[in-house]
Amino acid sequence: MLYSLPQLPYATDSLAPIISKETIEYHYGKHEKTYIDNLNNLIKGTPYEEMTLEDIIRKATGSLFNNAAQAWNHIFYFFSFSPDGGGFPKGELLEAITTHFGSFEVLKKQFVKAGTTLFGSGWVWLSSDNDGKLIISQGSNASNPLTEGLTPLLTFDVWEHAYYLDYQNRRADALNALWDIIDWDIIESRY
Ligand code: MN
Repeated sequence: MLYSLPQLPYATDSLAPIISKETIEYHYGKHEKTYIDNLNNLIKGTPYEEMTLEDIIRKATGSLFNNAAQAWNHIFYFFSFSPDGGGFPKGELLEAITTHFGSFEVLKKQFVKAGTTLFGSGWVWLSSDNDGKLIISQGSNASNPLTEGLTPLLTFDVWEHAYYLDYQNRRADALNALWDIIDWDIIESRY
């Protein structure tokens, strides 16, 4: 199948000032649209057209991997937020966080540190393995934990295009602010 840009479940100005309308219009409306267009051009008329996007990410390399993973990663990222977000995870996810990190505050600190210390462009991820163990990882460029057999739960985009319009060079400020718009019901549903 060919892909199109899904409509976001919130208004483009509703996450401001944490993510501005301008950033959503460029980052989702233009950057993500380009990854999806490139993905479609690369799979058209090939066996990849019959695969799920997740299978393409697991099997492809080079330009196809980069565009497929970026297409998936941005949808996963932008569909983690809500203007009514913030607060804390609950239930089994909170229990796992407490078991593996000690507390939610420790998870936040380690996650932001992993994002701020990632050199260059990439993504910071919280994933779970088959035993439900939680793992924070850094990935360069288009990387995605699906390729390591993990289940992604949460990601922050640390490419400069994700934060430069709103925070300029202050990546840590951008990453610390995002917690106030995370929709934990969605993150919990992925665990
Ligand atoms: Mn991005």
